[in-house]
Amino acid sequence: MKILTVLRFLPDRSGAPDLPPPWKPFEREIPEDLLTYPGEIRDEAEEERYAKAEPLHEFFSVHPEASEFIVEHGRGFLQSTFTKLARGVHLIRRATRLRPSSKRSPASPEEITAILRREGERIGLSRIGIAPNDPKYTFPESDAEQLPNVVVCLVEQDWELTQTIPCDEAEKAAMYGYAEGMTRTAQLAEFLKRMGYGAAPQGFPGDAITIHYGVAAGLGQLGINGQLLTPEAGSRCRILLLTTDAPLIHDSPVDYGLHKVCDECKACVRNCPVGAIPQSRKPYRGVVKSKLNTVRCLPVVAQAGGCAVCMKVCPVQRYGLEAILDHREETGEILGVGTDELEGYDWPLDGEHYGPGETPRVGDEVLKNPDLVFDFSRKEPPPGVKPIRFVG
Ligand code: SF4
Ligand code: SF4
Repeated sequence: MKILTVLRFLPDRSGAPDLPPPWKPFEREIPEDLLTYPGEIRDEAEEERYAKAEPLHEFFSVHPEASEFIVEHGRGFLQSTFTKLARGVHLIRRATRLRPSSKRSPASPEEITAILRREGERIGLSRIGIAPNDPKYTFPESDAEQLPNVVVCLVEQDWELTQTIPCDEAEKAAMYGYAEGMTRTAQLAEFLKRMGYGAAPQGFPGDAITIHYGVAAGLGQLGINGQLLTPEAGSRCRILLLTTDAPLIHDSPVDYGLHKVCDECKACVRNCPVGAIPQSRKPYRGVVKSKLNTVRCLPVVAQAGGCAVCMKVCPVQRYGLEAILDHREETGEILGVGTDELEGYDWPLDGEHYGPGETPRVGDEVLKNPDLVFDFSRKEPPPGVKPIRFVG
């Protein structure tokens, strides 16, 4: 990590586009026939049981060999974004070290929550949400202090670059999103500390299952593609977390009708080049969800420009929920499904264009590349592996 200390002083020549403005509140009424349940279906006893028997760990700590391969293949997007990421990590660390003011704000929880939302918007976060901290979804490797409330910070990544998926340019959009997310989450943590409260920002790729908190804070629902689908934006967002002891009012999971939208769409299922996305949801660790086949997905992500075809072809992420509801009202169909605009993409491994429902052939040279060591049965970090430390 010493290299980060040096890199943060270098000028930012990444050419990162400006962030889009914060989202306006989503106020559209969801049609009755799309409603199912708020957030996700959860069996808390099952979640508890799994958390005790098989605690969740940070992916790169469990699979350090795979992460080396991924970094090696990710030079195209990592080299130009590294200084920006290093600066974000530096700011996370600076905010962690800052002592809270000895004069604690006398404002009520309602007032502090409203002040925090305004500050989140002022510093350019797309949106924030608040949820209780849940140790089941925190990685034991995390070196971030765990305080009782979680502030979920969303940053929308550049829309135009996202539409070029899969390629290095699109992956840069994700890295810029993480860098900006860390910078602004650190700013928000410092703001809370100036109000006299403890605040512990977390780094990228995270100290916890961030999507859990996005759903718990009512910011979106889990798509069949395994991503947090938010209603406001037409593009994918990056999720950063901070925990705080400030007395905040929690948000609750919301039913945006997205499960039914997914059921009517399934574009990600049809277009995934290796069939890694199941058609339907079933319970996994106590949460009903569509669990991606990581053994098929990871080699493609590592070798095909980050893949993410399942994001490119997602109408919610491209057009936003409002446009989808308008189109569905007029036509009974999901906007963009079956069109090349939504479902088409250029495949980096053969240079060919694939239209709706067409998928490239991905052979064993990719799926079973002997240089990508990846033991999916491994459930915890191998002995001697030092986890990535963002805060310390
Ligand atoms: S990233 Fe690519 S391989 Fe993985 S699930 Fe999405 S479309 Fe499939
Ligand atoms: S592509 Fe369609 S099915 Fe897949 S997550 Fe997006 S809306 Fe849901």
